[in-house]
Amino acid sequence: MNVADSRRLASALEQMGYQPTRKPKEADVIVLNTCVVRQSAEDKAIGRLSSLRPLKDNNPDVVINLMGCLIGVRGNKKIQERFPWVDVVSPPSDPEPLLHFLTERTARQKAALKQSKLNALLDGELVLPRAEQGKLVSAFLPIVYGCSHACTYCIIPAKRGIEHSRPYDEILKEARELVGQGVREITLLGQIVDRYGMDLPERPTLADLLHDLHQIDGLKRIRFLTSHPNWMTDELLDAVAELPKVCPHIEVPIQAGDDDILQAMRRGYSAFDYRKLIERIRERIPGVSIATDIIVGFPGETEAQFNKTYDLLNELRMDVAHLARYSPRKGTYSERKMEDDIPDDVKMRRFRQLETLQEEIASEINARLLGQNVKVLFEELSRARWRGRTPTNKLVFVESEDNLLGQEHEVKIIWTGPWSMIGTLVKDVSD
Ligand code: SAH
Repeated sequence: MNVADSRRLASALEQMGYQPTRKPKEADVIVLNTCVVRQSAEDKAIGRLSSLRPLKDNNPDVVINLMGCLIGVRGNKKIQERFPWVDVVSPPSDPEPLLHFLTERTARQKAALKQSKLNALLDGELVLPRAEQGKLVSAFLPIVYGCSHACTYCIIPAKRGIEHSRPYDEILKEARELVGQGVREITLLGQIVDRYGMDLPERPTLADLLHDLHQIDGLKRIRFLTSHPNWMTDELLDAVAELPKVCPHIEVPIQAGDDDILQAMRRGYSAFDYRKLIERIRERIPGVSIATDIIVGFPGETEAQFNKTYDLLNELRMDVAHLARYSPRKGTYSERKMEDDIPDDVKMRRFRQLETLQEEIASEINARLLGQNVKVLFEELSRARWRGRTPTNKLVFVESEDNLLGQEHEVKIIWTGPWSMIGTLVKDVSD
């Protein structure tokens, strides 16, 4: 979501005549987009922010914009007092404060940017992730902003506000424009993406949206994340199975394998429900890959409760598991009402146990692809190798002298590891 927000803002800035630079020293405007989902992310954001101070001291004209969850939808006075040299603050997903600041400043400097252009920018007309025309193969498209579920550990609802779906036609229009700019793969985003449309008057579903996006010529792949187990309808799973462009890849976090912990997290399902869901997904979508998220060391998590998570992961054998150690976030229910009583070394040990298990599982799943042909959409050249992904979201590297950017090719897998694989092009593509 943050990547999507940053791209959107970057393209608005490009529309205003700014150009990207990799060197902070060269920049006229620096935007620091921040995540606070865990303490480590917040610490990193604060560290980066502090490191920008000398730049501002040397060049008071540089505009520093602090954006995202460190500010949140309700603002953050403490942070603003602590970092008074920040010029503009913006809540998540909102390019407006910076654009206003810059246009006002430009107007003061009697430069020529018109209010009408700003209006167009703010209407979203021009605020599309169009950075580097033709180079972006895979784009994120937020379809649900905010979240109203309120898992007890999670800070996101407080920082990103209540759930609201974007209008259906606006999404289709944006998708068409992205494809017009050369984008070949679109990933639809939402904290609970499978709840798309439930707050809209006509109650369109994510499945409806997938059907309509599927009609867009030139679009090769469609993905969506993240799903909550309770909203994964058969209609949605069938859309994934039936529509060739919709990739057979589902991201559906479990968070814990013990029912009492799941309840304390207020996730709204049991381990049994989740198990049934995975069965249903695998039945309805042949060849599907599944990713999950897990938190270890939630308050009160006993060894026996952790072992249930371990055993469930071992049983269900997901393609990917995003692991996290519980981090109390200020103001969340679990931070206020439950003691963070699992020592760091225990959290770390549990984390490592799951990591080792997942490494084995992923190695085993990926090894089945050895010698097989898979379809890879190439996204970028990374250290002399083309980097792309299979429809099941497996990372594949291929060496080729040819320009494969944005192309989809049949690739024979010659090496597999737990996190990526290597392949060779099946056909010569030099012409
Ligand atoms: N709605 C999204 C949430 C994104 S946050 C989703 O369901 O995926 C991504 C992951 O961060 C969550 O799934 C969870 O596993 C983890 N996470 C969220 N809050 C956390 C916390 N307080 N401590 C540790 N991990 C957390």
